[in-house]
Amino acid sequence: MSRICVSLSGGAAIAGRSFVEIRLDRGSSWPVIPAGCDAIATCRASWEGGTFAGSEEERRALVERAASSGAWAVDVEARAAWRPARPGGVKLILSHHDFEGVPADARGLAQRMLSEKADIAKIAATPRSAGELRALIDLQRDLGARAVVVPMGELGAAARILGARSGAPWTYAAPADGESTAAGQWGEAELRSLYRFERISPSTRAFCVAGDPVAHSKSPWLFNTAFAKAGLDAVYVPALTRDGELFSTLEALGVEGASVTIPHKVDAARGAAADATARRTGAANTLTRRDGGWEATNTDAAGFLESLEAGLGRAAKGLRVVVLGAGGAARAILAALAGPNVLFLAGRNAVKTGELAREFDATPVPWTVGKGIALDVLVNTTSVGMEPGVDETPFAAAGLPAGCAVYDCVYNPRETRLLREAAAKGCRAISGVGMFVGQAARQWKTWFGKEGGSAIKEAIEEFLGEGKGNNETKNEKVKTKNKK
Ligand code: NAP
Repeated sequence: MSRICVSLSGGAAIAGRSFVEIRLDRGSSWPVIPAGCDAIATCRASWEGGTFAGSEEERRALVERAASSGAWAVDVEARAAWRPARPGGVKLILSHHDFEGVPADARGLAQRMLSEKADIAKIAATPRSAGELRALIDLQRDLGARAVVVPMGELGAAARILGARSGAPWTYAAPADGESTAAGQWGEAELRSLYRFERISPSTRAFCVAGDPVAHSKSPWLFNTAFAKAGLDAVYVPALTRDGELFSTLEALGVEGASVTIPHKVDAARGAAADATARRTGAANTLTRRDGGWEATNTDAAGFLESLEAGLGRAAKGLRVVVLGAGGAARAILAALAGPNVLFLAGRNAVKTGELAREFDATPVPWTVGKGIALDVLVNTTSVGMEPGVDETPFAAAGLPAGCAVYDCVYNPRETRLLREAAAKGCRAISGVGMFVGQAARQWKTWFGKEGGSAIKEAIEEFLGEGKGNNETKNEKVKTKNKK
C-alpha cells in the first residue's frame, strides 16, 4: 500500500506523523526524529526549483548530517555533482524535477538513477496534455515501488492520488491547505480521510469527475463519503480535463466511470456509445467503461425534473419556462421539459441558441426575456454565480415577473445571488442541489448496477444537512502557487 509523505517546511511539526519529508531548503532545520517516523531529508537546490541559497558544500553537509541523525532517506538531485555519504540503511532517492513539462526521456532518466544504485528514482514533472499525463502514469506502473512519479500542476493532481493504484510507494502531501511545497499537491487530511489514500491498491476501483474547471465539484466528497459508508474499495477524484482530451484523459487515468461536467458533456455523448437518454439530450454527464469501450448516459435530466417538481410541489406540465444558457445542462433541462411545457431559450451565442432551440422545439428569446412572456419558471443553466464568482448573477431579479419560480442549476454555493434576489422578490427559489444529488444517485446505479442504498442516502443526507459537505469539500486541493 502507498503511504502519505507529509512535506514539512518552516519548522512545521513532525509530532504525530509517521512519514515526512523535511525541507531543509525551506526553513526547516533537522529535528529529532521520533521513534516510528520515517523522515526524508531534502535540501533542494535553487537550480532544481528549491530555495537553498548556500554553496553545494554547505548543502551536502546539511544532507549528510541528516543522514547520520536519524534520516530514513536522503533526496538528492540526479544532476547534483555529488552523492551524500550515508550510514548503512539510509536510503538514497535520486530525483529529477521539471516544472515546465515532462522530459521526453523520463523513463531513461529514471532507469539511469536506478542503475546508479538509487533505492528510489523520483521523477516530478508537469504534464501539459493527456498524453504527457499518460506517460507519467505508465512510468509509475512500469517501475512500481522503485519509483515515485509525481505529476505536478493541476493536470497532474488526480494522478497523485491514482498513482497508488500503479504501485507508487508514496505521494507527497501538504500538512495543511495552502502549505504545499509543489504545484497540485494535496493536503494530508483530505488525502487520508476523504480519499482514503492509504487503502488504495491496484485493485481499487477508480472513478472521476472530468471538467474544466473541476475544483468546484462536490462529487468527490459525495462519492468518496458514500464509498466509505458502503465499505467499497473505490476512489473518486476530480480530474482537470482539457478541451478535446476527455477520453484520452480518462484512459490515461484508468478510471472505469466518470461524471462529466463543464464543458465536456456534448463531447461525452458524441464520443461514446450513447443510450436513448444521452441521444435525446445530445449531452452526457455519465460515462462508463464496459468491454473496452465507453457508454454514455445522462442523469442530469431526471435529477432536474425530480427536484423541480419537488420544489414546485406539482408536476412539470403546462409550464412556461425560460432557460438561460445553451450548454450541456441546458440540453438536459430542455430534454426533461420538452413536450408538455412551453419552452423559451436565451443564450449569449445566437447561432448556438437558435440551433438548440430548434432541436427542442423552444423559442429563442433575448436574455432580458421579452415583456410578452408570462413566465412560470426561469432556469439558469449557465455557470454564472458559481464559486468563485459568487457575486455575479446571470439575470437581474428586477426583470422577474411576480410569482414565477427560479431554478438555479448552480449548486455551489447552495444559495446563489440569483436565488437570494429572486426570493427577496417573492419568487419561489429552487436550488440545484436537488438536481446534483438526484443525478449522482443515478450515476451510482449506472456504475454499480444497483441502488446505492443506505450508503449514498446517508452521504446525501450528510451533504444536505448542516451544509457539511458544502463547507468541508472545498476540494481542499492545495493552491498551486508554490513550486518546489
Ligand atoms: P457548459 O456546457 O459549459 O454550458 C454553460 C453555458 O453557459 C454555455 O451556453 C455558455 O455560453 C453559458 N455561459 C457561460 N458563461 C456565461 C455568461 N457569462 N453569460 C452568458 N452565458 C454564459 O456547462 P454545463 O455543463 O451546462 O454547466 C453549467 C452550470 O450548471 C455549471 O455551473 C454546472 O456546475 C451546473 N450544473 C449543475 C448540475 C447540478 O446537478 N445541479 C448539473 C449540471 C450542471 P456559450 O454557449 O456561449 O459558451
